[in-house]
Amino acid sequence: MISFLNLSKINNRFREATEARFNKILDVGMYLQGEQNDMFCAHFAQYCGTKYAVGVANGLEALKLIIQASGYGSGDEIIVPANTYIATILAISENGCTPVLVEPDMNTYNIDPDKIEAAITPRTKAIMVVHLYGQAVQMRKVWDIAQKYNLKVFEDCAQAHGAFYQGRRVGNLSDAGAFSFYPGKNLGCMGDGGAVVTNDEDLYKKVKALANYGSDRKYHHIYKGTNSRLDELQAAVLDVKLPHLDADNARRREIATYYRKNILNPLIVLPQTYDEQAAVWHVFAVRTQDRDRFQQYLTDNGVQTIIHYPTPPHKQLAYKEWNDRSYPISEEIHRTIISIPISPVMTDEEVSEVVRIVNEYR
Ligand SMILES: *Cc1c(COP(=O)(O)O)cnc(C)c1O
Repeated sequence: MISFLNLSKINNRFREATEARFNKILDVGMYLQGEQNDMFCAHFAQYCGTKYAVGVANGLEALKLIIQASGYGSGDEIIVPANTYIATILAISENGCTPVLVEPDMNTYNIDPDKIEAAITPRTKAIMVVHLYGQAVQMRKVWDIAQKYNLKVFEDCAQAHGAFYQGRRVGNLSDAGAFSFYPGKNLGCMGDGGAVVTNDEDLYKKVKALANYGSDRKYHHIYKGTNSRLDELQAAVLDVKLPHLDADNARRREIATYYRKNILNPLIVLPQTYDEQAAVWHVFAVRTQDRDRFQQYLTDNGVQTIIHYPTPPHKQLAYKEWNDRSYPISEEIHRTIISIPISPVMTDEEVSEVVRIVNEYR
């Protein structure tokens, strides 16, 4: 079986360094907001090229805190792609804001910048882009629209740690970026974790306080905050893995390049990239008309796959008020998409085996 993502293999590469950090934490006895969190946040901000990073509990919290810290709530609209993991949309509605869904571009699977302007109303406050499947959104048009209408721009970077747009990393392309360190992400911990990165000092201070009961110093509460912290064990895992992220992403690129060159099956539509440095290939999502049959074929031939995602957010029961809306491009993507294995620990043999099996599909 060629596994979709072998997390044990990924994390065991760093076993010794991780154990040493865990021993340090056992010695120090500080489990939250200690030196591991401080170190990781400093390193992660430096990596992204931003002035600040705040460790938080998970990716959804990172998204929610950015919106809350920006002061948006009931009556405010935030533009978001129709095809994203539901967390991006939940973060908007959980703040009492209205998510305004915009169709993706069929070539990049990211929000179609040419469709944003028609979705703007006097209540629009921000555009939340998502660098889906690991490919950075082409931000130029988004920036221009945001400037024209005086909107904030935020990034959901949960699938794109380390991806570049015009020489700058994601997270550093807007007012604030949200990251998830869920175990399966390109930079993943051993539980839940997340971060907010920004160059805005006020936003940074506010997110940091909000994530810690609205407290800027102990027992002094200036906001109605929440408890959303990155614990020391997770920060340690992340700080050990961060120096290897670029090499891991390079291996993902190598595999993606090989797939794109060697998968030559007319039934399979391959993903495109507008720039090699823009994509960190969180998943390698292909499309095919008879997706379920293709998935069964791959399972029968020992290749594990995952569908990102089978049902669009507007067709979920959670958003039943949207169920009879139609976003045909997003729906077509959800109907035909399927992700084949890609990970930094795949062997060359596994990669060529996947290619052979995919090419033999009829
Ligand atoms: C994983 C993911 C999230 C949520 O991250 P969690 O850490 O699981 O809360 C948000 N947005 C996107 C696009 C994701 O892929």
